[in-house]
Amino acid sequence: MKTIYETFSPKETEQLGQKIGESAKAGDLYTLTGDLGVGKTVFTQGVAKGLGIGEPINSPTFTIVQIYESGRMPFYHLDVYRIADIEEMEEIGYEDYFYGEGFTIIEWGNLIEELLPSNRKEILIEKNIEKGFDYRRIVISEAEL
Ligand code: ADP
Ligand code: MG
Repeated sequence: MKTIYETFSPKETEQLGQKIGESAKAGDLYTLTGDLGVGKTVFTQGVAKGLGIGEPINSPTFTIVQIYESGRMPFYHLDVYRIADIEEMEEIGYEDYFYGEGFTIIEWGNLIEELLPSNRKEILIEKNIEKGFDYRRIVISEAEL
């Protein structure tokens, strides 16, 4: 199943993320794909809010994973953009997150496709300048494998 959303401001993107966070179930895993500056972190901030996390969210680009424990369930926020080698994923113990009881979001998850569980969901965010600077198309889909 694939659902297409359109947002016209950062706030709308954050609110969509919040809805995902509010309906999150333990063990859910999403990949989040889109170019730099498209709104992945804005979306993730909404997710965190929806999970009841009060702290600000930053992209864990240099640490690969950031763990938030203050919400309804653990939230594992991964950014694998700088992963050079799958072994780095082993080093951070990715299986604890991917197969754990928390909610996981992986920015640039497409880069580690071979490690992703088949029951994941995917979020793709794209701009379309013809529709305005603040327009974003957000596609949420269940991976078909
Ligand atoms: P990413 O994490 O994908 O690199 P960020 O979330 O850090 O991107 O930044 C997105 C930028 O785009 C922010 O400056 C935000 O204000 C701006 N923006 C403009 N319109 C939107 C929109 N509809 N949704 C999300 N962000 C938007
Ligand atoms: Mg970001």
